[in-house]
Amino acid sequence: MEVKILHKDDKKLHFQVNGISTPVANALRRTIINEVPTMAIDEVVIIENSSVMYDEVLAHRLGLVPLKTDLDTFILPEECKCQSELGCNKCSVSLTLNAEASDSIRTVYSRELRSDNPDVTPINDKIPIVKLAPSQKIKLEAYARLGHGSKHAKWQPVSVSSYKHVPEIIVNRRKCDACGQCVEICPKGVLDIKDKRLEVVAEEKCTLCDDCEVICPKTPSAIKIKNVKNAFIFNVESTGALPPEQIVIEATKILRKKSKDFAEQINQLKIAKVKKKTKKVKTKKKK
Ligand SMILES: [Zn+2]
Repeated sequence: MEVKILHKDDKKLHFQVNGISTPVANALRRTIINEVPTMAIDEVVIIENSSVMYDEVLAHRLGLVPLKTDLDTFILPEECKCQSELGCNKCSVSLTLNAEASDSIRTVYSRELRSDNPDVTPINDKIPIVKLAPSQKIKLEAYARLGHGSKHAKWQPVSVSSYKHVPEIIVNRRKCDACGQCVEICPKGVLDIKDKRLEVVAEEKCTLCDDCEVICPKTPSAIKIKNVKNAFIFNVESTGALPPEQIVIEATKILRKKSKDFAEQINQLKIAKVKKKTKKVKTKKKK
């Protein structure tokens, strides 16, 4: 297996993996979405709410505010020894929100959420939560916990986790007369005409839509789009809760552990089957 980073910044990660099958690529994609834990507000105690927004809707909106997550400090509530409803400092973080509108209408933003742990705060200060009319007020206490995207979308660490096959574009130089129709139709700017010659300028951007192949006036087409076998380009976009590279690393760890557990269970089944067979043979002999 070979991994190549194509683009990386603090939110996005594009990388190419060679030498894995489609089911493995899909398992990685799904693990990124569903299994990598992040922090999210899970319980809200409303002390006062005179806004037009119902308590349930307010709590739901707070749950969807992405929070910075530290996976080394916190553990999942179900794995925590405390087993208490509100949690302890290892499995829960408390946040408070106390906002009031004086003479004019105002918006309450995520920056007004006060966290008792400076490492667990909203990833962005400008997420609108609710609008308050003059003299309206909200006062609440919220509890954030680690959880999985498989249980609720608020715990998904990514807004995008997708993959595509690695494209391969083959131009038949003898047939191509550089008419430029394929250049015009390509929405991604993969092709260009340079010195009256068709050039592939951004092969990695190809979405394998085949439009260039279809529009080519030559029969059969002078351009061929293929996908490279067992090679994939991943596109991972973090919500900001975790760095994108950490999300992928955590997902591979989870996938490896799951595969190991599965292999162990299969082995135990095999051992149990062999034991059953030997027992049968012994009983038959006795008869
Ligand atoms: Zn705990």
